[in-house]
Amino acid sequence: MDYRFLGASGLKITEITYGNWLTHGSQVENDVATQCVQAALDAGITTFDTADAYANGAAEEVLGAALKSQRRESLEVFTKVYWPVGPKGPNDTGLSRKHIMEGINGSLRRLGMDYVDLYQAHRYDHQTPLEETIQAFADVVRAGKALYIGVSEWSADQLREGQRLAKAAGFSLVSNQPQYSALWRVIEDQVVPASKELGMSQVVWSPMAQGVLSGKYKPGQPAPAGSRATDEKGGQKTIERFMDDTVLERVQQLQPIADELGLKMSQLAIAWVLQNPNVATALVGASRPEQVAENVKASGVRIPDELLTRIDEALGDSVVRDPAKTVSPEVRPA
Ligand code: NDP
Repeated sequence: MDYRFLGASGLKITEITYGNWLTHGSQVENDVATQCVQAALDAGITTFDTADAYANGAAEEVLGAALKSQRRESLEVFTKVYWPVGPKGPNDTGLSRKHIMEGINGSLRRLGMDYVDLYQAHRYDHQTPLEETIQAFADVVRAGKALYIGVSEWSADQLREGQRLAKAAGFSLVSNQPQYSALWRVIEDQVVPASKELGMSQVVWSPMAQGVLSGKYKPGQPAPAGSRATDEKGGQKTIERFMDDTVLERVQQLQPIADELGLKMSQLAIAWVLQNPNVATALVGASRPEQVAENVKASGVRIPDELLTRIDEALGDSVVRDPAKTVSPEVRPA
């Protein structure tokens, strides 16, 4: 497993991170969740991503329990704050000083850890002054509760202003966590160039488009039993945007390209995001330990330019590129 630096910082993270959105504390039982974490560790993954809002805290608890016996210094643990948690009261959401301070304490309690390596603003909060948010993050860092600070789904302008204020407050934003896959490339035009200029990496989510780029969803056929597209606890709704026969037909055309590289389509999808040098890590999910073992083989793969062009041709106009699709809710979610 290869390591990459996170932004302009000195922190090294595995280029594949295991993420537990929709799975831990929800779609999969706790024993399977623990097996997935163990499979990740066995494959050399030391970086893990979760959030306070995943399964309303349960995902942090499951991850913390699964990592309990590990040497803390050998792990890089990421979590996030913004989406509503707990009873979802007026101050249980957003990026106010109150919610960030209470949020980090709640995350550390559920993870059973003294600090997280990366604490991320899960979206931009249009209703809290950015100065207040950045000052709260500076204080979280000074208290030793988070070692580095990142954001998620911020636009290029939001990244620029956030980094300016962070530097003035004595720290740096090191990363942005956007959706990025061969099908969803909205960061390429504006967010990536701004991030390069600001010393920030992308920590990218849904590199397999939630499993769609694995090729297992066939056009005109029912989704395989037990897959995210059949998960009524949340997965079915979030994967919906890709479950379109035109998209699924185009995805099937990636199979010969994967074959030429001796890869599974899932591995091709993960390797594709890792070809972008501004990507520090691909956040990969898994509902079974065998998926983790399969997915990690994408580390270190180089895709020749000629095959990258053929991937573009195969996916054609199913690729979403509009930078305006990087958005955060105008009003803090309740
Ligand atoms: P992926 O695109 O990696 O999708 C993972 C899902 O695809 C798995 O849960 C599994 O679902 C299926 N899958 C995994 N491996 C295989 C395989 N080899 N063959 C076939 N199917 C496979 O990413 P996620 O959407 O899970 O997101 C990854 C992480 O990104 C999250 O855990 C989270 O940490 C982060 N994230 C961040 C967000 C943000 O707003 N910042 C938003 C969303 C995610 P199944 O078996 O059920 O079909």
